[in-house]
Parts: sequence; C-alpha cells; structure tokens
Amino acid sequence: MTVPDVRLNNGVAMPQLGFGVFQVPDDETEAAVTAALETGYRGIDTAAAYGNEAGVGAAIAKSGIPRDELFVTTKLWNGDHGYDPALRAFDASMSRLGLERLDLYLIHWPTPKRDRYVETWRAFEKLLADGRVRAIGVSNFQPAHLRRLVEETGTVPAVNQVELHPYLPQVELRAFDASQGVATEAWSPLAKGGELLTEPVVASLASKHGRTAAQIVLRWHLQLGNVVIPKSVTPSRIRENFEVFDFELTDADVASLSSLNRGLRTGPDPDTFN
Ligand code: NDP
Repeated sequence: MTVPDVRLNNGVAMPQLGFGVFQVPDDETEAAVTAALETGYRGIDTAAAYGNEAGVGAAIAKSGIPRDELFVTTKLWNGDHGYDPALRAFDASMSRLGLERLDLYLIHWPTPKRDRYVETWRAFEKLLADGRVRAIGVSNFQPAHLRRLVEETGTVPAVNQVELHPYLPQVELRAFDASQGVATEAWSPLAKGGELLTEPVVASLASKHGRTAAQIVLRWHLQLGNVVIPKSVTPSRIRENFEVFDFELTDADVASLSSLNRGLRTGPDPDTFN
C-alpha cells in the first residue's frame, strides 16, 4: 500500500498518513514505532513533551530504513519559547532522536499569554536556513496567531497541526490554512478512539463499505486533504489504520461524517492554554 504525499509550501513532500506517539511511554515507543515502520508508515509524529523522542530514535536507528524515506516531526514545548531557548530545545530534541536533520519542526502551542511565538519563529527560520530542518510549522495556531506570524516575519508555516475529527471538523480553520498555503494536519484524528467510533453514522458507513469505524474516519480525513497521524500501541490497529487506500467514501458519506460536528475539543483551547 502506498501512502500519498502532500506537497508542502516549500516543495517538501510529507506523507499524508503518519504515526503518532502521544502518551506512549518511552520504553514502549521503540516497539510501537518498529511495528509502524514494518507496516509501512514512514511519517512519525513525536514531541519533546511526550518524553519519547529517544524511543522514536531507537526504532529509526534499528529499522535500517534509509533516512530520506522517513519523515520525522517533533515539537517545541511551551517552556522553550524565545529565540535562544528554541535553538537549545531543538538541539536537545535532535540529540534524543539521534538525527542530524529533522523533517518538520513545529511550535507545539502558541501560548499567547507568553507572547513569544514570533521570537520562537525567528529561531525556526534560522534552523530552516541552516538546513537543520526541511520544513517548519506550527500546531494549535488559530487564524489570528498565523496572521501575526506572517505579518511580522513574512514566513508562512508549512503545516498547522490542530485537533480535528468529525466532532470538531474545523471548517473555518481548514479554509484559512488553505487560503494561506498551509497544510492542515489532524491530531486526535479518531477523537482518541472513544465514542466517535461507536456513532451510528460511523457504524453504518463501516457496514456499507465493509470496513472498521476507524478506517471510515481516517478515510474522511484523507478525502478532505488532511494529513493524519493516528496513534496506537496495538499492532492489529496499527495495520488497520494503514489499510485505508483501497476504498473511497462518496461525497454524501463525507458530508454525513462532517455533520457530526459538535464543536467538541478533547484537548486544551489554544487561545488560553499556556
Ligand atoms: P487518536 O485519535 O489517534 O486516538 C488514539 C486512541 O485510539 C488510542 O487510545 C488507541 O488505542 C485508539 N485506537 C487507535 N486505532 C484504533 C482503532 N483502529 N480502533 C479502535 N481504537 C483505536 O488520538 P491521539 O490523541 O493519540 O492523537 C494522535 C496523534 O496526534 C498523537 O499520538 C500525537 O502524535 C498527535 N497529537 C498532537 C497534539 C498537539 O497538540 N499537537 C495533541 C494530541 C495529539 P491503543 O493505542 O490502545 O490501540
């Protein structure tokens, strides 16, 4: 099964389906990432705050997969905002990952009360110019935060990784990202594997297409053009979540999933999270 790429605004290709490792303990991360790489995932999404960059790095090192076939993302944590702190945080992440060059570095949260994300972004521009990272982006940025970055620095983020699933389809934010040339990446794409997967609409589409609920939801993301990074530590689910490129939802199926919108955040509000 081949994962399509999304072309970022600086020409870099990013796999549309990757593997997330939030809340996977470091000592279980190597096994989970190894299972994902063996299945065929080439995008891995971690963060300094997850405490498992070392486990990700260990799996990559042992995989024997050529480095240029992998797409590794990590993120700068809230306490590391600012120009020099960001450069130091990047070096620390790279040493835990055991990598020379990163594919995508994200500002994890804008933390507007700290008011330092523009300074942080200038450090990201330097990392990009120095060739330490192939693309730079943000996470949990609202349109106002994105607008300010672009106005003050002129550098448009390649990616905005936000909470996004049928309970929170982020219609306006996705449109804003697209209008700016920013790729939208969905975190908690399965709404954390909870109630969404037992919704009657999802169950009926699963039975119509002969697929699982998770596959239906992942297909919805892919057909909307989202980059998607489901997490699982369960090998059978890791495979299941990868087998989503050999069927298609109709436009009506996609619309019925989008109509599950409840404006429901499972995570913090980006305007207040600090
Ligand atoms: P997901 O929506 O990916 O859901 C993960 C949960 O769903 C796990 O409990 C998993 O269980 C379960 N699950 C996975 N696949 C299936 C399946 N096929 N059937 C049934 N249940 C399933 O949630 P996450 O919050 O982990 O988000 C994904 C990734 O997004 C994170 O790992 C992280 O990389 C990123 N993220 C980024 C954030 C940010 O602020 N930028 C915030 C949160 C997440 P199990 O593991 O037990 O199999």
